[in-house]
Amino acid sequence: MRLKKILVVDDEVFFRDILKEALHERYQIIEGENGEQAVALAEEHQPNLIILDVMMPDGNGIDVCRILKANAATHKIPVILFTALSKKEDIVLGLKAGADDYITKPICLSEIVARVDAHLRTKDYYSDLLHKDLLLLLELAENISAIRNPMTILRIIVEKMSAIIDVARCSIVSINGNGDLYVKASNDLDENMEIRLDLAKYPEIRKSLETKRAVIVNNIQQDPLMDSVRPLIKDLRYNSIIVIPVLKKENIIGTFFLRTASPFKGGITDRIYKVCQLVANISANALENAMLFDTMKTAQEYFEEMSIRDGLTKLYNHRHFYNRLEEEFSRADRYNSSLSLLFFDIDDFKRINDVYGHACGDEVLRQIGLLIKMVARDIDIPARYGGEEFAIILPNTSAEGAFDLATRLRATVKAHLFSCLKNDHVTISIGVSTFAHKNIPAFDSLVHMADAAMYKAKAQGKDCVFQI
Ligand code: GH3
Ligand code: MG
Ligand code: MG
Repeated sequence: MRLKKILVVDDEVFFRDILKEALHERYQIIEGENGEQAVALAEEHQPNLIILDVMMPDGNGIDVCRILKANAATHKIPVILFTALSKKEDIVLGLKAGADDYITKPICLSEIVARVDAHLRTKDYYSDLLHKDLLLLLELAENISAIRNPMTILRIIVEKMSAIIDVARCSIVSINGNGDLYVKASNDLDENMEIRLDLAKYPEIRKSLETKRAVIVNNIQQDPLMDSVRPLIKDLRYNSIIVIPVLKKENIIGTFFLRTASPFKGGITDRIYKVCQLVANISANALENAMLFDTMKTAQEYFEEMSIRDGLTKLYNHRHFYNRLEEEFSRADRYNSSLSLLFFDIDDFKRINDVYGHACGDEVLRQIGLLIKMVARDIDIPARYGGEEFAIILPNTSAEGAFDLATRLRATVKAHLFSCLKNDHVTISIGVSTFAHKNIPAFDSLVHMADAAMYKAKAQGKDCVFQI
């Protein structure tokens, strides 16, 4: 299949790169950096869509848009203006100059993807939308870039939605790894109230989760989908429902739910469907963050944790490892206690990636992170040092103690059955170094020793522990 083409024109490489990153998997991206190139490239390549920066050194993107729309060779190509949010008057001028849509900086990636997809699906995707719908989208984008608390963002989304559509209920629901559903925000619930949903009572949500698609029930009193809950909904009027799955990558992290009281006005019209779809897309980041927030006690704690952890294994990252090692070293030096360090590297990891694929390689790394936590003590400090290399700081631990732990870890990894590896096994080579009785001057010597020891373990034939 030939990919559709998008011409991205922005004088700043940074913004071109972001757009490319968001769109290159599904579209062919052509780049230009000024107005002149925009017109020439549009004529030459006949792209399916043009994303045009408004502020460029050689002229105004709005003028470029006017030229494109007056040129018989390019006037049919939809143009999305790319502009700073503070320049609302630009948006109005741009739309008057013939632009088909706008996206705002700072960037909301999921919004860009939704907008671009929408334009390329059918050219007049927005024709059903009312003026107030576009204003709502603009306002939401503005809020999302200005507000940090994801719960507040979700709250604003449901409130604004219910203000422009005649709704009986509008809510955003999260679904966690165990399949539990929680209402994160709803126009008919008090702020910060969280209600657990019983999936048995919501066949329409169940169906949306199963099919990963939007579910529309135009008349809940007649649709057979609602038969199992007939007694529960007998007091509801002739409402219509729409449920849209909220997706992050391929995963469903929740649903956007809207029940409207106006089936006699056409139920879920194209307009309502499109607004809901766009708003559900915009909600994805906020919902994901709201779910992460919940697992932390405060927002501050959340941001701090994120900055010191490795994303895949959730062990400490390289930088935090060095900070902690320096701290532990001066503590050991001051109190004359011992401190050990363990370095290990997975044996023949390239082969694991080659034979079972990179995703399986990642899963092996993640599970090794869990095995380390199982074997190490609570006071030990495990880190992902680099790609497939790990380090564990062992405070108050003698050379014997460290050797002992290394030996147990080696055996535990070797015995572990990794789900994606069939019956294959993984082994590791471990280097151990110890600071005791002031044998070394500084913490980085401890690192060099552990590293050298690990290479000795590799040289000795791998799957073993070497101690210096
Ligand atoms: P050796 O026994 O000598 O350590 O052999 P090796 O194959 O493990 O050697 P090497 O260190 O050269 O290869 C490491 C490989 O680990 C190469 C790299 O592609 C892979 N790798 C590094 N980081 C990641 C990651 O995050 N995920 C996955 N899946 N693979 C990674
Ligand atoms: Mg290796
Ligand atoms: Mg390596």
